[in-house]
Amino acid sequence: MCALLALAPTLSPAHAAGPAEVASADRASWPRPIDSPAGFDRASRAEILAFAHQLLRSEALDDAALAQRLRLKQVDRASVDKIRARWWRRLGDNYRLASRACAAREPMCAPAADTAALRALAAGFDAAPEPAFAAWHADAARFHRIYLDEQLRLAALFPRTSSEIDTYSAQELDGSELPDRQFLLTFDDGPTAPGGNTDKLLSALREHKLDATFFVLGQSLQRQVDAGPAGRTAQRYAGMCLASHGWEHQSHSRWPQWQDSVTRSSALIAAQAGASYVPLFRPPYGQRRADSGEFFRQHGLRVALWNIDSQDWNAKMTPADIQGRLLSLMLLWRHGTILFHDIHDKARVALPALLRQTRGAGIAWTPCRDYPGRD
Ligand SMILES: [Zn+2]
Repeated sequence: MCALLALAPTLSPAHAAGPAEVASADRASWPRPIDSPAGFDRASRAEILAFAHQLLRSEALDDAALAQRLRLKQVDRASVDKIRARWWRRLGDNYRLASRACAAREPMCAPAADTAALRALAAGFDAAPEPAFAAWHADAARFHRIYLDEQLRLAALFPRTSSEIDTYSAQELDGSELPDRQFLLTFDDGPTAPGGNTDKLLSALREHKLDATFFVLGQSLQRQVDAGPAGRTAQRYAGMCLASHGWEHQSHSRWPQWQDSVTRSSALIAAQAGASYVPLFRPPYGQRRADSGEFFRQHGLRVALWNIDSQDWNAKMTPADIQGRLLSLMLLWRHGTILFHDIHDKARVALPALLRQTRGAGIAWTPCRDYPGRD
């Protein structure tokens, strides 16, 4: 998904229409603190069980019922099955990590050694384990049902419409390679004009001693390079990482000039960004061709997707909605790449609040230079 979705006439109507609802969580309903590693793990187990419960329930639907629920004409069954299997593996791994240090009689701590055991726990998670969790349970059931449908919709459309929901090879990155409790910040679609959202965000990140990877559009950067003094890009993004989001914001799975878009934008960014350049490419909307792997390999680039979408481009989402959604998804997936857009102003408000909320929780923000690390 991306900021300019509504402006992209080449997208299929099914994709352009998007999901009917966007998931945002009311974190105030969670009754326990998360300002310690144990607190983070407790809340993490809760989100895993809540999502797994919705996932399990969705598996009872046949193709026609699933298509109707997702507002699609048809679903790609093989893709949905593949993504569901991957989710169960990741949920199992995450649940085991989150329950390693369970105290005696701690709620939501029954062991789940394998997927069958986790499925059994998920099946029984149709009510709050204790009255104190009732308000959270009701909110989490709503959140995860909507979030699951967002993700199932992408799975049902893949590979006819490619997206971040799946990778074509291990060369493609989506944030799932990061270690437990580590998160990478990324910002797409910039740069905005000098003094605009990009610069405000850069200041906010530096204030919080954070860095991030900015996936910029070649066309926008070129305009600023032409208008500004030499060396401004390297200075502006000093300490950050800069990579390509293509020359123009178009689907790189259907655009005949997609290869030119990639090489031209990467060459410009490498020339202008100095030490900040990193050889990654993030396709607009996550859309790229299934057979593009060899091209990227030859050019020394890796496709970098994301696994945690802030939905900050969406007019329905306030900064508080984004903050709640992100915290629930960080607890659920426990690591990964977070997608923001620096052409919007919401991250500048949501991110500091998220930092305050997760202080002491034992999570780390991956330095952009360290990503993806060595194979
Ligand atoms: Zn974009």
